[in-house]
Amino acid sequence: MPVISASTVSGASGLSKFVPISRRALKGLKEYGRKLVELELFTQYLEEWVMENLNSDSVDGMHGFSSLFTIGEMRKLDMALEGVPFQQLVRMPIFSEVSEELIEEQYLAVEDFLHAVIIGLWRTFWHKNGPLPLCVSCPSYPGSKFNSVEKAISRGRLREMRGLGLISKTSTDSKIKWDQVVEFAIFKPELLLDNALRVSANTICEALFYGFHVLVSRSLSKISSVNSDSVFLLVLDSKSGVVIKFSGDLGKLDLSNSSNPYLSVAEWIKTYAEICITPAEPIWNQLGNPNWGDIGALQILLATFYSIAQWNGPPRKSVATLISDHSFRLQKRRTECCIIETENALVPYYDHQDGEIVEVDQNDLFSNNRPSRLKLKHGDIVVLDDPQQGQRSFQIHEYLVRGNYYLYSAICLDHPLALLSLYVGAHTSRLEPSWEDMSLWYQVQRQTKVLNILRNQGILSKYLPEIVASGRIVHSGYCNKESPGGKCDHPWCGTPILVTSPVGEPLSSVVSNEGTFSADGAMRLCRDCLVALRSAAIANVQHGDICPENIIRVVEKQGNIRNHHNQAMYVPISWGRAVLEDRDSPAINLQFSSSHALQHGKLCPSSDAESIVYIVYFITGGTMSQQDSIESALQWRENSWAKRSIQQHLGQVSALLKGFADYVDSLCGTPYPVDYDIWLTRLNKAVEGSADKGKMIEEVAITLRLEDAAESSGASGP
Ligand SMILES: [Zn+2]
Repeated sequence: MPVISASTVSGASGLSKFVPISRRALKGLKEYGRKLVELELFTQYLEEWVMENLNSDSVDGMHGFSSLFTIGEMRKLDMALEGVPFQQLVRMPIFSEVSEELIEEQYLAVEDFLHAVIIGLWRTFWHKNGPLPLCVSCPSYPGSKFNSVEKAISRGRLREMRGLGLISKTSTDSKIKWDQVVEFAIFKPELLLDNALRVSANTICEALFYGFHVLVSRSLSKISSVNSDSVFLLVLDSKSGVVIKFSGDLGKLDLSNSSNPYLSVAEWIKTYAEICITPAEPIWNQLGNPNWGDIGALQILLATFYSIAQWNGPPRKSVATLISDHSFRLQKRRTECCIIETENALVPYYDHQDGEIVEVDQNDLFSNNRPSRLKLKHGDIVVLDDPQQGQRSFQIHEYLVRGNYYLYSAICLDHPLALLSLYVGAHTSRLEPSWEDMSLWYQVQRQTKVLNILRNQGILSKYLPEIVASGRIVHSGYCNKESPGGKCDHPWCGTPILVTSPVGEPLSSVVSNEGTFSADGAMRLCRDCLVALRSAAIANVQHGDICPENIIRVVEKQGNIRNHHNQAMYVPISWGRAVLEDRDSPAINLQFSSSHALQHGKLCPSSDAESIVYIVYFITGGTMSQQDSIESALQWRENSWAKRSIQQHLGQVSALLKGFADYVDSLCGTPYPVDYDIWLTRLNKAVEGSADKGKMIEEVAITLRLEDAAESSGASGP
């Protein structure tokens, strides 16, 4: 497997030395360049030969274009680029009809794509800051001026454009010339690649035509310092792309035939030039965004990487360095996986004897059919295969966390009256779990485990979420998975789902929509959360991730609702980060985690209660500055407790809440358990005293015997 470096390119002769050409030859070359302007004529001389080479099998020798990049090279680049944001702002529109407007949009998308390629590569490998030495610009014929796509559109001349050049901005002259072309892309808005993904001989001839002009311009150039006789050419359409590497020693071109340069050039290409070509691979996904990790985009990235290296020298940060950085991150991620792995490992974890980079079947890595995150919309029906209850159907109402497609409200079609919370997990076939997938793993698989533990220990409380159903999604169409835990090729197959009750609005959105809480509302919230924490503590479970997103306000249906704060109840949800045993680590939240969690990555018995104090402080209007590091978050806590500023603020809201904060302050960091009962008695008195008589809040936590819990778990519909 070749090692990627700026000085080696596989499949070709590499960056062979450019042979200086005599003055007389330069003159002849200039004339050829000037005369060779008819693409059609050029194609006539070459098309048949190109077709033969395209169709012949390169394995058996004489003919056939060599392949360009190895899978190994591309995998290395892919690994080095892990986490690099390639931001494409304009999507590739994909419609069956071709209109002028559409072509404009497609050109803009290609231009934006190439921009993203340059910026991503340059910032990653060469220079983090500073000006970009490259830009994208379009010519209309060999030797013509260059324009931006936008300018060509505004002048109505887009149809005349013949492709897009990646241009080196080395010259101080603002006018772009052909000898500044680093890499050249031809774009065929109309589909060039049929369903078999084959590029036509005609199109290759067109690419070679411009490639020849680039090589000639470079060798005639006074400014170009590129001592290479090769150029990378891209052929793109609205779905796929091909990379061609075109190289040859122009010194061997017969310059004596100035009456018919086409013949000489064609002969030179057939005899002396080397053409390597990649397979056509999809670049854009169904939404028009490039799939950066896919082989199609990687081919373009790799060609551009080599092209930039040709012009600007080897990268300051090598591919190997970036891969080793990546290995370090991967190791950390694995450690995290190991810590949370249990016997029922649901996140794929590949064990490697030598600690090397993950090795999987190449087809898995470069499958064009990558699992996509399941996104549901209002009215969608989700069928779930629950191992305990069989198939259950849920209809999506809406998604609950803005911008995130993992938590929805939904109804069970068997009990359509009650809204439920539906969590969608990450597809389990991914090569390695991303952080996002890990957080979904916590939300779905691990939360399922934690809620089951609570239920099996007989802990049942209306202030705790309850599992309604859990299992894997049943997708439409044929499923040929081999075992109940297996999966087929369907992108959603095996996606885990958790349905819980109740559903409600996260505290974060309540506060942003309705402002700060009254004393009554804050006491009610504090009481409800302490009830939940007390119940869980009976089973030795701590929440570990108390924050405004993980507490919901549930408005009870019965009674008339005059005041949300009085009628609502609050339920801590998202128990996936719960701490069950010493080796479990809680989530880290710079604003709401306890000092102990921030400092040691562990909880002490009063940690959840400490987080509740921060929550109460926050919802009653206490000022919390945004923290940007664990150090500053710890500093804020230390100062606040030392100056008693949290108690001072709470004292203006409620003496009881201030007392609770004092109590928690005395416990923080100690091994002593929280005496929930004392505080629940006091808070109950305050809350019920202020509520309507007769609307007594029912007894806090009901600890059922195991058999009762098992009975009730069967009737999981609310
Ligand atoms: Zn399936």
